[in-house]
Amino acid sequence: MRKKLFLSSLAIVLITLILSMIAVSLVIKRQFSDYLVKTTEATIQQFPERLSTIYSYKGFWDPVSLSELSHYLPMDTQMTIKDSSGNVITSLTNPMGMMHGGMGNMGNMMGMNMEYSVNQWKTKTYEIPSPKGVLGSATFEYPAGAQTLNPQDISFVSAVVNSLILAGALALLIGALLSYWTSRHLVTPLQHLTQAAYRIGHGHLNERVQISTKDEVGQLALAFDSMADSLEQQERHRKQFTADIAHELRTPLTSMRSYIEAFQDGVLPANQENLTALNEEIDRLVNLASDLKDLNVAEMGALSLNLQKVDLNSLLDKIIRNLSPLILEKGLNLNRLYAEQHHFIYGDERLLTRLFYNLIHNAYKYTEGNGTISVEMTYASTECVNIKISDTGIGIPESDLALIFERFYRTDKSRTRETGGTGIGLALVRQIVALHHGSIQVESQIGKGTMFTVQLPVNSDYDTNQISHKLNMDKIR
Ligand code: ADP
Repeated sequence: MRKKLFLSSLAIVLITLILSMIAVSLVIKRQFSDYLVKTTEATIQQFPERLSTIYSYKGFWDPVSLSELSHYLPMDTQMTIKDSSGNVITSLTNPMGMMHGGMGNMGNMMGMNMEYSVNQWKTKTYEIPSPKGVLGSATFEYPAGAQTLNPQDISFVSAVVNSLILAGALALLIGALLSYWTSRHLVTPLQHLTQAAYRIGHGHLNERVQISTKDEVGQLALAFDSMADSLEQQERHRKQFTADIAHELRTPLTSMRSYIEAFQDGVLPANQENLTALNEEIDRLVNLASDLKDLNVAEMGALSLNLQKVDLNSLLDKIIRNLSPLILEKGLNLNRLYAEQHHFIYGDERLLTRLFYNLIHNAYKYTEGNGTISVEMTYASTECVNIKISDTGIGIPESDLALIFERFYRTDKSRTRETGGTGIGLALVRQIVALHHGSIQVESQIGKGTMFTVQLPVNSDYDTNQISHKLNMDKIR
Protein backbone atom coordinates (compact mmCIF):
# COMPACT_ATOMS: atom_id res chain seq x y z
CA MET A 1 0.00 0.00 0.00
CA ARG A 2 2.85 2.34 0.83
CA LYS A 3 4.33 1.72 -2.62
CA LYS A 4 0.95 2.34 -4.29
CA LEU A 5 0.43 5.59 -2.38
CA PHE A 6 3.93 6.76 -3.15
CA LEU A 7 3.63 5.93 -6.85
CA SER A 8 0.18 7.50 -7.22
CA SER A 9 1.32 10.75 -5.53
CA LEU A 10 4.37 10.76 -7.76
CA ALA A 11 2.21 10.23 -10.82
CA ILE A 12 0.00 13.17 -9.78
CA VAL A 13 3.03 15.44 -9.40
CA LEU A 14 4.42 14.35 -12.77
CA ILE A 15 1.11 14.77 -14.61
CA THR A 16 0.58 18.22 -13.07
CA LEU A 17 4.09 19.16 -14.07
CA ILE A 18 3.76 17.99 -17.65
CA LEU A 19 0.35 19.65 -18.08
CA SER A 20 1.58 22.94 -16.66
CA MET A 21 4.63 22.88 -18.92
CA ILE A 22 2.44 22.23 -21.95
CA ALA A 23 0.11 25.06 -20.90
CA VAL A 24 2.98 27.48 -20.34
CA SER A 25 4.58 26.45 -23.62
CA LEU A 26 1.34 27.12 -25.51
CA VAL A 27 0.84 30.48 -23.86
CA ILE A 28 4.40 31.54 -24.55
CA LYS A 29 4.19 30.38 -28.15
CA ARG A 30 0.98 32.25 -28.87
CA GLN A 31 1.59 35.41 -26.81
CA PHE A 32 5.16 35.67 -27.87
CA SER A 33 4.31 35.15 -31.50
CA ASP A 34 1.63 37.87 -31.35
CA TYR A 35 4.03 40.15 -29.58
CA LEU A 36 6.69 39.62 -32.24
CA VAL A 37 4.29 40.23 -35.14
CA LYS A 38 3.14 43.47 -33.51
CA THR A 39 6.75 44.52 -32.96
CA THR A 40 7.55 43.79 -36.62
CA GLU A 41 4.57 45.83 -37.79
CA ALA A 42 5.51 48.72 -35.54
CA THR A 43 9.04 48.61 -36.93
CA ILE A 44 8.09 48.49 -40.61
CA GLN A 45 5.65 51.36 -40.12
CA GLN A 46 8.65 53.64 -39.54
CA PHE A 47 10.35 52.60 -42.81
CA PRO A 48 8.47 54.82 -45.35
CA GLU A 49 9.52 57.89 -43.36
CA ARG A 50 13.13 56.68 -43.17
CA LEU A 51 13.21 55.83 -46.89
CA SER A 52 11.85 59.30 -47.64
CA THR A 53 14.66 60.83 -45.53
CA ILE A 54 17.35 58.78 -47.37
CA TYR A 55 15.98 59.81 -50.77
CA SER A 56 15.61 63.50 -49.87
CA TYR A 57 19.19 63.56 -48.48
CA LYS A 58 20.91 62.04 -51.52
CA GLY A 59 18.33 62.82 -54.24
CA PHE A 60 18.44 59.20 -55.46
CA TRP A 61 18.14 55.70 -53.95
CA ASP A 62 21.65 55.34 -52.50
CA PRO A 63 22.48 51.62 -52.30
CA VAL A 64 24.86 52.10 -49.30
CA SER A 65 22.24 53.96 -47.22
CA LEU A 66 19.63 51.37 -48.23
CA SER A 67 21.96 48.56 -47.21
CA GLU A 68 22.53 50.25 -43.81
CA LEU A 69 18.80 50.63 -43.38
CA SER A 70 18.27 46.94 -44.14
CA HIS A 71 20.01 46.15 -40.80
CA TYR A 72 16.94 47.62 -39.07
CA LEU A 73 14.52 45.37 -40.87
CA PRO A 74 12.90 42.71 -38.67
CA MET A 75 14.20 39.16 -39.24
CA ASP A 76 12.65 37.25 -42.14
CA THR A 77 11.10 40.42 -43.50
CA GLN A 78 11.56 41.37 -47.11
CA MET A 79 11.16 44.96 -48.21
CA THR A 80 10.60 45.72 -51.92
CA ILE A 81 10.92 49.36 -52.99
CA LYS A 82 9.19 50.48 -56.18
CA ASP A 83 9.14 53.90 -57.84
CA SER A 84 5.94 55.80 -58.56
CA SER A 85 5.64 53.98 -61.93
CA GLY A 86 5.72 50.58 -60.21
CA ASN A 87 9.28 49.63 -61.29
CA VAL A 88 11.17 47.63 -58.67
CA ILE A 89 14.15 49.59 -57.42
CA THR A 90 15.49 47.10 -54.91
CA SER A 91 14.51 44.27 -52.60
CA LEU A 92 16.12 44.05 -49.17
CA THR A 93 16.24 41.70 -46.18
CA ASN A 94 18.10 41.92 -42.86
CA PRO A 95 21.61 40.57 -43.50
CA MET A 96 21.69 39.22 -39.88
CA GLY A 97 18.84 36.90 -40.87
CA MET A 98 21.05 35.43 -43.53
CA MET A 99 23.88 35.00 -41.02
CA HIS A 100 21.63 33.11 -38.67
CA GLY A 101 20.89 30.86 -41.60
CA GLY A 102 17.27 31.97 -41.46
CA MET A 103 16.56 31.15 -37.85
CA GLY A 104 13.00 30.67 -38.86
CA ASN A 105 13.07 27.42 -36.97
CA MET A 106 13.98 27.61 -33.35
CA GLY A 107 13.61 23.89 -33.22
CA ASN A 108 12.87 21.96 -30.11
CA MET A 109 13.82 24.34 -27.38
CA MET A 110 14.69 22.44 -24.24
CA GLY A 111 12.13 19.80 -25.03
CA MET A 112 9.35 22.36 -25.17
CA ASN A 113 8.84 21.83 -28.87
CA MET A 114 8.65 25.54 -29.59
CA GLU A 115 8.38 25.56 -33.39
CA TYR A 116 9.17 28.99 -34.78
CA SER A 117 9.04 28.00 -38.43
CA VAL A 118 7.32 30.42 -40.73
CA ASN A 119 4.63 29.06 -42.95
CA GLN A 120 2.26 32.02 -43.31
CA TRP A 121 3.22 35.41 -44.61
CA LYS A 122 1.67 38.83 -44.50
CA THR A 123 2.16 41.66 -46.96
CA LYS A 124 1.82 45.37 -46.32
CA THR A 125 2.47 48.20 -48.75
CA TYR A 126 3.16 51.78 -47.69
CA GLU A 127 3.57 54.87 -49.86
CA ILE A 128 6.90 56.61 -49.51
CA PRO A 129 6.04 60.25 -48.93
CA SER A 130 8.08 63.30 -49.91
CA PRO A 131 7.37 67.04 -49.88
CA LYS A 132 6.96 66.90 -53.66
CA GLY A 133 4.49 64.04 -53.67
CA VAL A 134 4.63 60.25 -53.49
CA LEU A 135 8.10 58.86 -54.21
CA GLY A 136 6.97 55.31 -54.67
CA SER A 137 5.96 52.38 -52.46
CA ALA A 138 7.57 49.99 -50.04
CA THR A 139 6.08 46.49 -49.81
CA PHE A 140 6.90 44.39 -46.74
CA GLU A 141 6.50 40.67 -46.65
CA TYR A 142 6.83 39.32 -43.11
CA PRO A 143 5.80 36.21 -41.16
CA ALA A 144 2.11 36.20 -40.14
CA GLY A 145 2.66 33.96 -37.13
CA ALA A 146 5.80 33.07 -35.35
CA GLN A 147 8.93 34.48 -36.74
CA THR A 148 12.60 34.50 -36.28
CA LEU A 149 13.71 35.66 -32.88
CA ASN A 150 16.48 38.08 -32.23
CA PRO A 151 19.10 37.11 -29.60
CA GLN A 152 17.29 38.97 -26.78
CA ASP A 153 14.05 37.17 -27.59
CA ILE A 154 15.84 33.84 -27.62
CA SER A 155 17.48 34.44 -24.27
CA PHE A 156 14.13 35.58 -22.80
CA VAL A 157 12.36 32.43 -23.95
CA SER A 158 15.24 30.22 -22.77
CA ALA A 159 15.21 31.94 -19.37
CA VAL A 160 11.48 31.22 -19.02
CA VAL A 161 11.96 27.63 -20.12
CA ASN A 162 14.91 27.16 -17.76
CA SER A 163 13.01 28.53 -14.78
CA LEU A 164 10.10 26.28 -15.68
CA ILE A 165 12.34 23.26 -15.76
CA LEU A 166 13.96 24.25 -12.45
CA ALA A 167 10.57 24.81 -10.81
CA GLY A 168 9.38 21.47 -12.22
CA ALA A 169 12.42 19.63 -10.87
CA LEU A 170 11.94 21.25 -7.46
CA ALA A 171 8.22 20.40 -7.47
CA LEU A 172 9.09 16.83 -8.38
CA LEU A 173 11.60 16.56 -5.56
CA ILE A 174 9.30 18.14 -2.95
CA GLY A 175 6.36 16.07 -4.25
CA ALA A 176 8.41 12.88 -3.99
CA LEU A 177 9.51 13.71 -0.43
CA LEU A 178 6.00 14.69 0.61
CA SER A 179 4.41 11.61 -0.91
CA TYR A 180 7.03 9.42 0.77
CA TRP A 181 6.34 11.09 4.12
CA THR A 182 2.53 10.89 3.69
CA SER A 183 2.60 7.27 2.68
CA ARG A 184 4.84 6.42 5.65
CA HIS A 185 2.64 8.47 7.98
CA LEU A 186 -0.49 6.67 6.76
CA VAL A 187 0.80 3.17 6.39
CA THR A 188 2.87 2.74 9.57
CA PRO A 189 -0.14 3.05 11.93
CA LEU A 190 -2.10 0.69 9.69
CA GLN A 191 0.73 -1.81 9.94
CA HIS A 192 0.61 -1.49 13.75
CA LEU A 193 -3.14 -2.10 13.62
CA THR A 194 -2.67 -5.20 11.47
CA GLN A 195 -0.04 -6.58 13.83
CA ALA A 196 -2.21 -5.83 16.86
CA ALA A 197 -5.24 -7.49 15.23
CA TYR A 198 -3.10 -10.52 14.41
CA ARG A 199 -1.84 -10.77 17.99
CA ILE A 200 -5.32 -10.34 19.44
CA GLY A 201 -6.52 -13.06 17.06
CA HIS A 202 -3.85 -15.29 18.59
CA GLY A 203 -5.08 -14.69 22.11
CA HIS A 204 -2.94 -11.73 23.25
CA LEU A 205 -5.93 -9.71 24.38
CA ASN A 206 -3.81 -7.12 26.18
CA GLU A 207 -2.46 -5.86 22.85
CA ARG A 208 -3.20 -2.15 22.16
CA VAL A 209 -2.15 0.20 19.36
CA GLN A 210 -2.20 3.55 21.19
CA ILE A 211 -2.08 5.80 18.15
CA SER A 212 -2.84 9.31 19.35
CA THR A 213 -3.46 11.12 16.06
CA LYS A 214 -6.81 12.87 15.63
CA ASP A 215 -7.38 11.77 12.03
CA GLU A 216 -9.40 8.80 10.71
CA VAL A 217 -6.56 6.38 11.46
CA GLY A 218 -6.45 7.68 15.05
CA GLN A 219 -10.21 7.13 15.34
CA LEU A 220 -9.85 3.65 13.93
CA ALA A 221 -7.11 2.94 16.49
CA LEU A 222 -9.33 4.28 19.27
CA ALA A 223 -12.20 2.04 18.16
CA PHE A 224 -9.77 -0.87 17.88
CA ASP A 225 -8.45 -0.32 21.42
CA SER A 226 -11.92 -0.04 22.86
CA MET A 227 -12.90 -3.24 21.04
CA ALA A 228 -9.81 -4.92 22.52
CA ASP A 229 -10.78 -3.57 25.99
CA SER A 230 -14.21 -5.06 25.69
CA LEU A 231 -12.83 -8.38 24.38
CA GLU A 232 -10.43 -8.52 27.29
CA GLN A 233 -13.20 -7.71 29.73
CA GLN A 234 -15.45 -10.38 28.24
CA GLU A 235 -12.64 -12.88 28.40
CA ARG A 236 -12.09 -12.00 32.07
CA HIS A 237 -15.82 -12.47 32.74
CA ARG A 238 -15.81 -15.74 30.85
CA LYS A 239 -12.92 -17.05 32.93
CA GLN A 240 -14.54 -15.82 36.12
CA PHE A 241 -17.79 -17.43 35.02
CA THR A 242 -16.12 -20.76 34.29
CA ALA A 243 -14.55 -20.65 37.74
CA ASP A 244 -17.94 -19.78 39.27
CA ILE A 245 -19.73 -22.51 37.39
CA ALA A 246 -17.10 -25.05 38.40
CA HIS A 247 -17.54 -23.96 41.99
CA GLU A 248 -21.35 -23.95 41.77
CA LEU A 249 -21.38 -27.42 40.26
CA ARG A 250 -18.76 -28.95 42.50
CA THR A 251 -20.28 -27.86 45.81
CA PRO A 252 -23.71 -29.52 45.44
CA LEU A 253 -22.19 -32.54 43.68
CA THR A 254 -19.66 -33.05 46.51
CA SER A 255 -22.45 -32.71 49.02
CA MET A 256 -24.63 -35.21 47.11
CA ARG A 257 -21.77 -37.67 46.90
CA SER A 258 -21.16 -37.35 50.65
CA TYR A 259 -24.85 -38.07 51.34
CA ILE A 260 -24.87 -41.11 49.05
CA GLU A 261 -21.61 -42.47 50.51
CA ALA A 262 -22.99 -41.94 54.00
CA PHE A 263 -26.18 -43.81 53.01
CA GLN A 264 -24.11 -46.65 51.50
CA ASP A 265 -21.86 -46.91 54.55
CA GLY A 266 -24.90 -46.75 56.84
CA VAL A 267 -23.45 -43.64 58.58
CA LEU A 268 -26.64 -41.68 57.77
CA PRO A 269 -30.11 -43.14 57.48
CA ALA A 270 -31.89 -42.52 54.16
CA ASN A 271 -34.80 -40.95 55.99
CA GLN A 272 -37.16 -38.13 54.96
CA GLU A 273 -34.98 -35.37 56.39
CA ASN A 274 -31.75 -36.52 54.71
CA LEU A 275 -33.46 -37.21 51.41
CA THR A 276 -34.95 -33.67 51.48
CA ALA A 277 -31.47 -32.24 52.02
CA LEU A 278 -30.19 -34.30 49.12
CA ASN A 279 -33.10 -33.11 47.01
CA GLU A 280 -32.26 -29.46 47.80
CA GLU A 281 -28.83 -29.96 46.32
CA ILE A 282 -30.37 -31.44 43.20
CA ASP A 283 -32.78 -28.43 43.04
CA ARG A 284 -29.82 -26.10 43.25
CA LEU A 285 -28.23 -27.78 40.24
CA VAL A 286 -31.48 -27.77 38.29
CA ASN A 287 -32.00 -24.03 39.03
CA LEU A 288 -28.49 -23.23 37.94
CA ALA A 289 -28.92 -25.13 34.68
CA SER A 290 -32.25 -23.44 34.01
CA ASP A 291 -30.82 -19.96 34.83
CA LEU A 292 -28.03 -20.52 32.38
CA LYS A 293 -30.31 -21.83 29.67
CA ASP A 294 -32.77 -18.90 30.05
CA LEU A 295 -30.01 -16.33 29.98
CA ASN A 296 -28.45 -17.91 26.96
CA VAL A 297 -31.72 -18.08 25.05
CA ALA A 298 -32.65 -14.52 26.06
CA GLU A 299 -29.27 -13.20 24.98
CA MET A 300 -29.54 -14.91 21.64
CA GLY A 301 -32.77 -12.94 21.20
CA ALA A 302 -34.66 -16.13 20.54
CA LEU A 303 -36.69 -16.36 23.71
CA SER A 304 -40.25 -16.55 22.55
CA LEU A 305 -42.59 -14.60 24.76
CA ASN A 306 -45.71 -16.32 25.91
CA LEU A 307 -47.78 -13.16 26.00
CA GLN A 308 -50.86 -12.78 28.11
CA LYS A 309 -52.56 -10.34 30.42
CA VAL A 310 -50.67 -10.56 33.71
CA ASP A 311 -52.03 -9.46 37.07
CA LEU A 312 -48.94 -7.95 38.70
CA ASN A 313 -50.56 -7.84 42.18
CA SER A 314 -51.14 -11.59 42.15
CA LEU A 315 -47.74 -12.25 40.64
CA LEU A 316 -45.89 -10.26 43.33
CA ASP A 317 -48.10 -11.71 46.09
CA LYS A 318 -47.24 -15.22 44.96
CA ILE A 319 -43.49 -14.49 45.01
CA ILE A 320 -43.73 -12.84 48.42
CA ARG A 321 -45.72 -15.83 49.69
CA ASN A 322 -43.08 -18.27 48.43
CA LEU A 323 -40.21 -16.30 49.92
CA SER A 324 -41.96 -15.44 53.21
CA PRO A 325 -40.69 -18.48 55.14
CA LEU A 326 -37.08 -17.59 54.26
CA ILE A 327 -37.64 -13.88 55.02
CA LEU A 328 -39.27 -14.61 58.37
CA GLU A 329 -36.61 -17.16 59.25
CA LYS A 330 -33.91 -14.52 58.73
CA GLY A 331 -35.83 -12.05 60.91
CA LEU A 332 -36.52 -9.57 58.09
CA ASN A 333 -39.55 -7.30 57.78
CA LEU A 334 -41.44 -7.16 54.53
CA ASN A 335 -43.52 -4.15 53.44
CA ARG A 336 -46.02 -4.79 50.73
CA LEU A 337 -46.73 -1.26 49.49
CA TYR A 338 -49.30 -1.49 46.77
CA ALA A 339 -52.99 -0.76 46.69
CA GLU A 340 -55.66 -3.37 46.32
CA GLN A 341 -56.42 -1.95 42.88
CA HIS A 342 -54.94 -4.49 40.50
CA HIS A 343 -52.21 -3.57 38.02
CA PHE A 344 -52.24 -5.42 34.75
CA ILE A 345 -49.69 -5.57 32.03
CA TYR A 346 -49.34 -7.52 28.84
CA GLY A 347 -46.34 -9.84 29.17
CA ASP A 348 -44.88 -13.28 29.80
CA GLU A 349 -45.96 -14.42 33.26
CA ARG A 350 -43.18 -16.99 33.72
CA LEU A 351 -40.45 -14.49 32.81
CA LEU A 352 -41.99 -11.69 34.87
CA THR A 353 -42.14 -14.05 37.86
CA ARG A 354 -38.46 -14.80 37.28
CA LEU A 355 -37.67 -11.09 37.08
CA PHE A 356 -39.30 -10.12 40.37
CA TYR A 357 -38.28 -13.32 42.11
CA ASN A 358 -34.62 -12.57 41.34
CA LEU A 359 -34.91 -8.98 42.64
CA ILE A 360 -36.80 -9.87 45.85
CA HIS A 361 -34.56 -12.88 46.45
CA ASN A 362 -31.49 -10.64 46.07
CA ALA A 363 -33.01 -8.18 48.56
CA TYR A 364 -33.42 -11.11 50.94
CA LYS A 365 -29.88 -12.45 50.29
CA TYR A 366 -28.10 -9.15 50.78
CA THR A 367 -30.02 -7.88 53.85
CA GLU A 368 -29.07 -8.82 57.40
CA GLY A 369 -31.50 -9.75 60.17
CA ASN A 370 -33.87 -6.97 61.37
CA GLY A 371 -33.60 -5.32 57.97
CA THR A 372 -36.57 -4.41 55.83
CA ILE A 373 -37.58 -5.35 52.32
CA SER A 374 -40.22 -3.23 50.56
CA VAL A 375 -42.14 -3.98 47.41
CA GLU A 376 -43.96 -0.95 46.02
CA MET A 377 -46.07 -0.66 42.89
CA THR A 378 -47.55 2.50 41.36
CA TYR A 379 -48.70 3.68 37.97
CA ALA A 380 -46.03 6.05 36.61
CA SER A 381 -48.54 7.14 33.96
CA THR A 382 -51.51 5.59 32.22
CA GLU A 383 -49.04 3.71 30.08
CA CYS A 384 -46.40 2.61 32.58
CA VAL A 385 -46.26 0.85 35.87
CA ASN A 386 -43.37 1.27 38.33
CA ILE A 387 -42.30 -1.52 40.64
CA LYS A 388 -39.73 -0.63 43.29
CA ILE A 389 -37.96 -3.30 45.29
CA SER A 390 -35.85 -1.84 48.07
CA ASP A 391 -33.96 -3.19 51.03
CA THR A 392 -31.92 -1.94 53.95
CA GLY A 393 -29.11 -4.36 53.21
CA ILE A 394 -25.40 -4.17 52.57
CA GLY A 395 -25.68 -1.94 49.49
CA ILE A 396 -23.58 -1.92 46.36
CA PRO A 397 -20.37 0.13 45.88
CA GLU A 398 -20.94 2.99 43.44
CA SER A 399 -18.18 1.72 41.16
CA ASP A 400 -20.05 -1.59 40.77
CA LEU A 401 -23.48 -0.12 39.99
CA ALA A 402 -22.86 0.01 36.25
CA LEU A 403 -21.54 -3.54 36.21
CA ILE A 404 -23.99 -5.58 38.27
CA PHE A 405 -26.22 -6.23 35.24
CA GLU A 406 -23.31 -7.82 33.42
CA ARG A 407 -23.31 -11.57 33.24
CA PHE A 408 -21.45 -13.28 36.09
CA TYR A 409 -20.66 -10.03 37.86
CA ARG A 410 -20.53 -10.24 41.64
CA THR A 411 -19.46 -7.43 43.93
CA ASP A 412 -18.04 -9.79 46.50
CA LYS A 413 -15.89 -12.27 44.61
CA SER A 414 -15.03 -14.29 47.71
CA ARG A 415 -18.44 -14.65 49.27
CA THR A 416 -19.88 -17.98 50.27
CA ARG A 417 -22.65 -19.86 48.55
CA GLU A 418 -25.09 -18.85 51.29
CA THR A 419 -24.86 -15.17 50.43
CA GLY A 420 -24.37 -15.24 46.73
CA GLY A 421 -25.08 -16.91 43.45
CA THR A 422 -23.35 -16.96 40.13
CA GLY A 423 -24.01 -13.37 39.06
CA ILE A 424 -26.51 -14.47 36.45
CA GLY A 425 -29.68 -13.25 38.18
CA LEU A 426 -29.44 -9.55 37.27
CA ALA A 427 -28.21 -10.26 33.74
CA LEU A 428 -31.38 -12.28 33.23
CA VAL A 429 -33.42 -9.50 34.86
CA ARG A 430 -32.05 -7.00 32.37
CA GLN A 431 -32.85 -9.24 29.41
CA ILE A 432 -36.42 -9.87 30.62
CA VAL A 433 -37.00 -6.13 31.13
CA ALA A 434 -35.70 -5.46 27.61
CA LEU A 435 -37.94 -8.17 26.17
CA HIS A 436 -40.91 -6.35 27.76
CA HIS A 437 -39.75 -2.95 26.41
CA GLY A 438 -39.20 -1.71 29.95
CA SER A 439 -36.31 -0.17 31.85
CA ILE A 440 -34.51 -0.84 35.10
CA GLN A 441 -32.58 1.48 37.40
CA VAL A 442 -30.66 0.94 40.59
CA GLU A 443 -29.77 3.27 43.45
CA SER A 444 -27.68 2.12 46.34
CA GLN A 445 -25.65 3.24 49.33
CA ILE A 446 -23.13 1.04 51.07
CA GLY A 447 -24.46 -0.08 54.44
CA LYS A 448 -27.82 1.63 53.91
CA GLY A 449 -29.53 -0.38 51.22
CA THR A 450 -30.47 -0.75 47.58
CA MET A 451 -33.50 0.12 45.49
CA PHE A 452 -34.26 -1.36 42.05
CA THR A 453 -36.94 0.44 40.00
CA VAL A 454 -38.49 -1.49 37.15
CA GLN A 455 -40.68 0.39 34.72
CA LEU A 456 -42.88 -1.67 32.42
CA PRO A 457 -45.27 -0.51 29.73
CA VAL A 458 -48.84 -1.58 30.32
CA ASN A 459 -49.43 -2.41 26.68
CA SER A 460 -46.48 -3.00 24.45
CA ASP A 461 -46.23 -3.46 20.76
CA TYR A 462 -44.22 -6.67 20.74
CA ASP A 463 -42.45 -6.42 17.47
CA THR A 464 -40.00 -9.32 17.44
CA ASN A 465 -37.53 -7.45 15.23
CA GLN A 466 -37.42 -4.60 17.73
CA ILE A 467 -36.89 -7.01 20.56
CA SER A 468 -33.98 -8.78 18.96
CA HIS A 469 -32.53 -5.39 17.96
CA LYS A 470 -32.79 -4.16 21.52
CA LEU A 471 -31.21 -7.33 22.83
CA ASN A 472 -28.39 -7.07 20.37
CA MET A 473 -27.81 -3.46 21.44
CA ASP A 474 -27.74 -4.61 25.07
CA LYS A 475 -25.19 -7.24 24.19
CA ILE A 476 -23.01 -4.65 22.50
CA ARG A 477 -23.20 -2.43 25.59
P1 ADP B 1 -25.98 -13.27 42.35
O1 ADP B 1 -26.53 -14.55 41.91
O2 ADP B 1 -24.52 -13.29 42.65
O3 ADP B 1 -26.78 -12.59 43.38
P2 ADP B 1 -26.99 -11.24 40.62
O4 ADP B 1 -26.80 -11.06 39.16
O5 ADP B 1 -28.36 -11.44 41.09
O6 ADP B 1 -26.02 -12.39 41.05
O7 ADP B 1 -26.40 -9.96 41.32
C1 ADP B 1 -25.14 -9.49 40.91
C2 ADP B 1 -24.42 -8.83 42.08
O8 ADP B 1 -25.09 -7.62 42.45
C3 ADP B 1 -24.51 -9.67 43.33
O9 ADP B 1 -23.43 -10.59 43.37
C4 ADP B 1 -24.44 -8.64 44.42
O10 ADP B 1 -23.08 -8.35 44.71
C5 ADP B 1 -25.05 -7.41 43.81
N1 ADP B 1 -26.45 -7.22 44.28
C6 ADP B 1 -27.58 -7.54 43.62
N2 ADP B 1 -28.68 -7.20 44.32
C7 ADP B 1 -28.24 -6.65 45.47
C8 ADP B 1 -28.88 -6.09 46.63
N3 ADP B 1 -30.21 -6.05 46.75
N4 ADP B 1 -28.10 -5.62 47.61
C9 ADP B 1 -26.75 -5.65 47.50
N5 ADP B 1 -26.08 -6.16 46.45
C10 ADP B 1 -26.82 -6.66 45.45
